[in-house]
Amino acid sequence: MKQKIIRIHPLDNVAVVLEDIVAGTELDQDLIALTDIPEAHKVALRDLQVGAPVVRYGVKLGQAAEEIKRGEWVHEKRIIAARPPELEQLRAIKPSMPAKLPMPEQMTFSGFRNGDGYAGTRNLLGIIPTVQCVAGVLNRAVELIRRDLLPRYPHVDDVVVINHAYGCGVAIDAPDAAIPIRTIRNLLSHPNFGGEPLVVGLGCEKLTPHMLLGPDRASEAVVLQDYAGFQASLNAIIDSAAVRLAKLERRKRETLPLKHLLIGLQCGGSDSFSGMTANPAAGYAADLLVAAGATVLFSEVTEVRDAVHLLAARAADEQVRDRLIEEMAWYDRYLMAGGVDRGANPSPGNKQGGLSNIIEKAMGSVAKSGHAPIAAVIGPGERPEVSGLVFSATPASDLVCGSEQLASGITLQVFLTGRGTPYGLAAAPVLKVSSRTKLREHWPDLIDYDAGVIATGQKTIAQAGTALFHTILAVAEGRQLTCSEKLRVYNDFCIFNPAPIT
Ligand code: CA
Repeated sequence: MKQKIIRIHPLDNVAVVLEDIVAGTELDQDLIALTDIPEAHKVALRDLQVGAPVVRYGVKLGQAAEEIKRGEWVHEKRIIAARPPELEQLRAIKPSMPAKLPMPEQMTFSGFRNGDGYAGTRNLLGIIPTVQCVAGVLNRAVELIRRDLLPRYPHVDDVVVINHAYGCGVAIDAPDAAIPIRTIRNLLSHPNFGGEPLVVGLGCEKLTPHMLLGPDRASEAVVLQDYAGFQASLNAIIDSAAVRLAKLERRKRETLPLKHLLIGLQCGGSDSFSGMTANPAAGYAADLLVAAGATVLFSEVTEVRDAVHLLAARAADEQVRDRLIEEMAWYDRYLMAGGVDRGANPSPGNKQGGLSNIIEKAMGSVAKSGHAPIAAVIGPGERPEVSGLVFSATPASDLVCGSEQLASGITLQVFLTGRGTPYGLAAAPVLKVSSRTKLREHWPDLIDYDAGVIATGQKTIAQAGTALFHTILAVAEGRQLTCSEKLRVYNDFCIFNPAPIT
């Protein structure tokens, strides 16, 4: 009999169906579907009384809101969500011994060296405005730079303009303004920009070139109010771009230890398969990278909040554990001020994909972090100071998480998706992984790698994770372009600004 359900953990009293099921279908030995059940949704493996725990991943997702019969569809309305772990109780958790990680076959990669720091995976001219006011002029200049200048510099991969909505009309001295300010500042030293970013300012904004570049380099910015009109502004931007392109042209790839690689992981448009296929495969690839000395970021606070006790136990030491608790507490307060909690996270698509609540989503989400100890916890947009697995406490929004991870210096992002999104970042390649083979077949030109082969039994998590590791290196080395790079499909830069707008 063809496999029709997947049960993740021996304690689970629900399983996920692998295809659309009609009532009366035999799902497993002695298990008959009593109702229709959509693909990726859950079936009850035993009778559940009102108030009984509903268990998946070996974890209580909540309580049965009504009597549920073995073989029935278990969906979001039939489960009352469990409460999140109490943060203060996590301080009692003792960080455990490091895990034994699988060792990769490859310990080096070919990248663009930036001294002792993280290397580039692409050679890009990065242009960053201080303020959105200049974006119209800047976009016209970039059209001309790409058309007239870029072809003269064959070793430069692209010109990337990072327009954003910050810079003025904001409470720049508010405590939380530190987040958007460091996001833009750290972006300037992104490894793919080779130390040659071009800053374009207006002249009367709050976020000044001086604040971004420091006193010694502030004069390198092009400030539009210094120029006589549109054409002179355009020429100034183009002239500054030409100087930087000439320097970037001299960058060459060289073989480097994997400690020079910094990548990010993120999921978006997740479904019930994500936690069984794409995310654990990414977790295995992350373990291989960490074992080889690379740095791997994972993020998305609202999607780890319900699994934070599992992460606290993996902290490298008590300081890292306490920093994790502080970041979670900050986000709890941020959500509370907006009148919601982490339960506001799941989207209609997540629910259609079988994810009943944020607890189920979180258990799948953290699978992407693999098994390595958590070496550090950083705030959104901060740069990691140690290598290994790092939690960066960004929002889960795909656009904001991607932008904040870029500011932290990721030079590649692995993006796990079940529902599908054409998401891409202009400043670093995004390698998209599908949780279901059907998605890859539906979107062959938008999905780079299919982890659905784990659900169908064609590959184990270790086999799919190892193949993903090699694909990550092929993309990092420029031997493979991602779907979003080939199609030039890129999202906007969306800064996390929790501080007031004035
Ligand atoms: Ca996300």
